[in-house]
Amino acid sequence: MKSFEELGLDTSILKALKDAGYENPTPVQEGTIEWAVEGHDVLGCAQTGTGKTAAFTLPILQRIVGRNDKGIKALVLAPTRELAMQIANSLRDYSKYMKVRHTVIYGGVSAYEQIKNLRRGVDVLIATPGRLLDLHNQGHVFLGKVETLVLDEADRMLDMGFIHDIKTIESLCAEDKQTLFFSATMPPDVRKLAMGILKEPKQLDIAPAEQKVDRIEQEMYMVRRDRKRAMLNYWLENNPEGQVLIFTKTKRGADRVEEDLQEQGYRAVAIHGDKSQGARTRALGDFKRNKARILVATDVASRGIDVDQLPYVINVDMPENAETYVHRIGRTGRAGAFGKAISFCCEDDRDILHEIEKHLSMELAKTTDHPFVLQDNVLAEVLEKPQRGGSRSGGPSRGYKGRSGGGRFGGNRRGGSGGSGEYRGGGDSRGRSNDRGGERSNERSGERSGERSGERSYGGGNRGGSSFKSKERSGSGSSSAGGAKKKFFSGVAKKK
Ligand code: AMP
Repeated sequence: MKSFEELGLDTSILKALKDAGYENPTPVQEGTIEWAVEGHDVLGCAQTGTGKTAAFTLPILQRIVGRNDKGIKALVLAPTRELAMQIANSLRDYSKYMKVRHTVIYGGVSAYEQIKNLRRGVDVLIATPGRLLDLHNQGHVFLGKVETLVLDEADRMLDMGFIHDIKTIESLCAEDKQTLFFSATMPPDVRKLAMGILKEPKQLDIAPAEQKVDRIEQEMYMVRRDRKRAMLNYWLENNPEGQVLIFTKTKRGADRVEEDLQEQGYRAVAIHGDKSQGARTRALGDFKRNKARILVATDVASRGIDVDQLPYVINVDMPENAETYVHRIGRTGRAGAFGKAISFCCEDDRDILHEIEKHLSMELAKTTDHPFVLQDNVLAEVLEKPQRGGSRSGGPSRGYKGRSGGGRFGGNRRGGSGGSGEYRGGGDSRGRSNDRGGERSNERSGERSGERSGERSYGGGNRGGSSFKSKERSGSGSSSAGGAKKKFFSGVAKKK
């Protein structure tokens, strides 16, 4: 393995890396930095958590160090403002001993300050595509001197509908520029975009998800759908130490988990695309500084979250697919640290559970030793392997004999009817309206919130019956909660 010194980095950069506590390059850094410093294009398949931010920012800094010429020399495109801000923070840290001007621009906030910063002169610009093009079209940005273009999380940018923006931006940069292209996954559309932009790229494929996942302890809690809230409280009561990142399927779900936890006295904050930029920045800051122990997030809003030593990730709602599962749990167990991922698997999650196991080529531990476990017959069905050809993307799942469309497994998992499998807090009992359809927003519309469209809302339908809260408080809750029940409502006054 090479050291940072051997990668040809300037002493000012090496000093900053030392301050950051980096001893050796990660594999993506070892691969990319040398190539990029030599001027090659790079196509990297690497996820967040592998050290890829430094892999592309360090060569940028190396190429700028000691220069006085004006103009934007490097442009980093990122899908969300959180990620853009994260990159800017890393760049600031790595460049603390050199003179480099950078700024970050993203949608959802006033452009005034951003324009002011651009006018002062910028060497490295970090941007989300939508706002960048807006400011370019208004004449505030000149990209003709960009000699290094970085596309970070290209797969996400494509998911969010940025393909045309990316192509336009790319064409505005200097023709002989170098491009560093990173993506966590490499489906055909992403590869096609890469091949249309890159010139004889050096390729590297870092940390196939499985390798990274090896370091993370994974546990599936087999839990009743209508007991997720109780299960979460139970888990938190039994694991009082360590920061927790919780994932929900929808923005509404994230709000509800946040509220429920705050009610229980936990220091919990939530981020998602419907929160104002100020609220999101505050929440992230509180979590990073450990002022909040728990951060609740939707998938897209979580993209920029980079918290060192995050011990726990909890999937209160299971993700849409196995890749997203790997992304989520990759938030813990970083840089060799301990990490544990807990997932609440309910009646509706049989197919995704098996998809994940297939994707990881491993069987995951199923925990049933808790008070809210699925009934035996349901559990047996969830754990049963699907029949060959079973579908999870449409129509009734095959392999569940004797259940019709209205049955527990009969529905379409993607259909969102009744918020299948979702965390359901005290929502219904609080008289919240059904907000289905109100969740859609993305970077290209409205405030460019960075939230991917297509997240389903909390269904509002009442498949699960009344909420845990109303049942427990009225004393008519399931007896399965047993002795654990008392614990949940104790110590409410104390911030946990
Ligand atoms: P990234 O994949 O860029 O989001 O980085 C993930 C985490 O790894 C961040 O917290 C970085 O500060 C950290 N990191 C990046 N490179 C190194 C390194 N060479 N040694 C130790 N930690 C690193």
